[in-house]
Amino acid sequence: MAKIIFLGTASSIPTKDRDNTAFVFIHKSQTFLIDCPGAIVHKLLKANVDFKKLQNVVITHEHPDHIYGIISLIHTQAGLNDRLNIFTNNRCKKIVESLRALFNLDRDKFPQIHYIDVFKKNPFYSKDGLRLSSIENKHMQGSFGVKFSSGKKSLFYTSDTSFSASMIEKAGKLNYLIHDCTGPSSSFSPGSKINLMHTDSKTLSEYLKDKPDTKLIPVHFLLLKKGEEKRIRAELKPLGKRCVFVKDFEVVRL
Ligand SMILES: [Zn+2]
Ligand SMILES: [Zn+2]
Repeated sequence: MAKIIFLGTASSIPTKDRDNTAFVFIHKSQTFLIDCPGAIVHKLLKANVDFKKLQNVVITHEHPDHIYGIISLIHTQAGLNDRLNIFTNNRCKKIVESLRALFNLDRDKFPQIHYIDVFKKNPFYSKDGLRLSSIENKHMQGSFGVKFSSGKKSLFYTSDTSFSASMIEKAGKLNYLIHDCTGPSSSFSPGSKINLMHTDSKTLSEYLKDKPDTKLIPVHFLLLKKGEEKRIRAELKPLGKRCVFVKDFEVVRL
């Protein structure tokens, strides 16, 4: 179906080995950057993705770890790319527009920006057998996940979200689920704020236990405390090989 290159797998706070969550989705000649944190051009170069030809960016919400690289991408593409499609919501559109004006990046030499509202038309992208649809998640106002489908294959990236079985079920039958897995259950004490915006590894493991056809790629790790990654891996262990634990710059073929 496609190839995914992970550019980052951490939450808003990167670690030495993991940067903010973002990935490139490549299907035949169609390339999408999904979320746009900092140092994005350097990361695209490192992943052998031609940033000059990159014309499709999806921004799932306005938290800085998902949006702040867009200004650098527009700046770097000056004179090199004439069009950039940004698939997003209205709130992110407003932020990108004000940043472009602030940095004086709305002149002719920079790419023309075309905004596609992911809630106006769903699927919001459909070409050569590939469809991208938005599914509202449980994170903040207007935030969403992205479902990719081609033929019988499908993948759902939840983006940042608290756990919701009904949200995942909206995506239908899934081959792959790239899900927020911010921490182990020990970091998600009942009533804590993190529960309202993110998901823990135990909840994911339990939910996917009886879904043998779906592979999980956990992302958006917050690894502030020592041993946190170990605890996440232990909670996901029951899924066996169905859990694909990726590093930054790892490639997954779907
Ligand atoms: Zn985030
Ligand atoms: Zn967020």
